[in-house]
Amino acid sequence: MEGTTLLQLPEGMRLDQIQVTENGLIIEICATAPTSSCPLCAQPSSSIHCHYRRRLRDVPCAGRQVQLRLTVRKFCCRNPYCERKVFAERLPDFVEPRARTTIRFCQQITSIGLATCGKGGARLAARLGIRTTRQTILRRIMDLPDFPAESILFLGIDDFSFLRGRRFGTIFVKLENRHVVDLLPDRKAETAASWMRQYPDLMAVSRDRGGDYAAAATAGAPQAIQCADRFHVIKNLGEALEGLLARHLAAHRSRLAEQSSATPLGDAHSTQPPKLSPKEALQSQAKREERLARANRASRRQPLPTRWGSAMLPSRVGWKVRPFPNNNHIHEGLILIHTCPFSANGGKQAAIISLSCTGNW
Ligand SMILES: [Zn+2]
Repeated sequence: MEGTTLLQLPEGMRLDQIQVTENGLIIEICATAPTSSCPLCAQPSSSIHCHYRRRLRDVPCAGRQVQLRLTVRKFCCRNPYCERKVFAERLPDFVEPRARTTIRFCQQITSIGLATCGKGGARLAARLGIRTTRQTILRRIMDLPDFPAESILFLGIDDFSFLRGRRFGTIFVKLENRHVVDLLPDRKAETAASWMRQYPDLMAVSRDRGGDYAAAATAGAPQAIQCADRFHVIKNLGEALEGLLARHLAAHRSRLAEQSSATPLGDAHSTQPPKLSPKEALQSQAKREERLARANRASRRQPLPTRWGSAMLPSRVGWKVRPFPNNNHIHEGLILIHTCPFSANGGKQAAIISLSCTGNW
């Protein structure tokens, strides 16, 4: 097998020499095409003026760093009307003009950065034999072209922080393919509304439950249905459940206290839980936290529709679940009618929590 094929060099390249050093491989190559086209007038020329050397970093070979020493020829442009008299030959599929790395090396850096991040990408690249920095990785990612403007039907909007707790921006996500389509420098309703006006085809906006983005969606995409996104639905549901159960637990305890005060002193003492020592209380608390963590891990392993659509909640706390009626864009939802066994009026007090969400769970 020829060296150019082994190293996957482009056609028309000649491999002159390979040196193995302590730091890696030094490979000398040159182009052999008989002519090259002037970049200004595009007229081909075979008149070689001179040569010079370029040093390029290339993708690693078996974990070794690779340095290419490319001999570049300079041609004379024979077009009398062209302003360029001498030009260097171009290798557009292999290396860009004045670049110090090959195109495939840059592509590997970009892929590593997209799969990881700046610091993590630099660490991974070092393990793969690629010498780079986190700044280079981030610069490659930022050099990527933006997604072309296209129709967006389902949009997700939320805020994010440039500086935690101090400076916030707005992120837009196209929910059909889960791609980030744009970032805004603030989280003002007017800015988000003006951005949404560029997309008159919007059918649904998934947002948090704050007022700013609701106002933005109303002003910028009045034709779109607004719904709470999964994160905020689950967060609000958890908070509502926590408050509800806390209230009923307090009612349950007060009823127990009333019963104990109504019974003789000896019987009341017998119903009280035994008083724990500080060490036993710590152990009991640790066991409670371990049980809670185990339950959380088990619930995360289950797919979300099963978690909220099945009878798991009702079986544990006595909820009745009724499916939310479907309409055009809301594919899945729940109405939870609560009849709590701890409530003071014998379980007939009902609380209703209605949820709606898009199909992108
Ligand atoms: Zn020319």
